[in-house]
Amino acid sequence: MNCIFCDIIDKKSNAEILFENECVLAFLDIRPVNYGHTLVIPKIHYENFLALPESELSELIKVTKDISGAIVSSLNPQGFNIVANNGTAAGQSVFHFHFHIIPRFNQDDFRFRPKLKEYNVGSMHEYADKIRAAVLI
Ligand code: 5GP
Ligand code: ZN
Repeated sequence: MNCIFCDIIDKKSNAEILFENECVLAFLDIRPVNYGHTLVIPKIHYENFLALPESELSELIKVTKDISGAIVSSLNPQGFNIVANNGTAAGQSVFHFHFHIIPRFNQDDFRFRPKLKEYNVGSMHEYADKIRAAVLI
């Protein structure tokens, strides 16, 4: 299996690594939305968020929070996004799960500009019922 992020973990490919420990690696995205745009990945290859075992989640989220704090204190952005694309339709291009930390500025040109939908009468309840029936916790 070819995976550029696994190659970065194995040091077969170079990256600007910001932090690593036994299970997590944080490095600069090579094509940043804004400078300092960072990726945080588990060292074990999981394709997407749903494939991640719960045991990996807490450390991954903790490091994402710590690195977000470091980005805020060192680069002084006016905000930041935590984003995870899951599936091609959602914009995922590297199929090794990762959180993006994107520093944001008031006048930057990165915007989600969705054409927001409205629910037809009753359909909001139907969607909620469908999802509620699938909740396993
Ligand atoms: P995705 O589109 O899957 O959510 O995000 C993948 C990200 O990985 C992209 O933002 C892309 O710029 C970044 N990326 C792809 N290849 C490399 C690489 O070789 N090195 C680094 N540092 N980032 C990469
Ligand atoms: Zn991988």
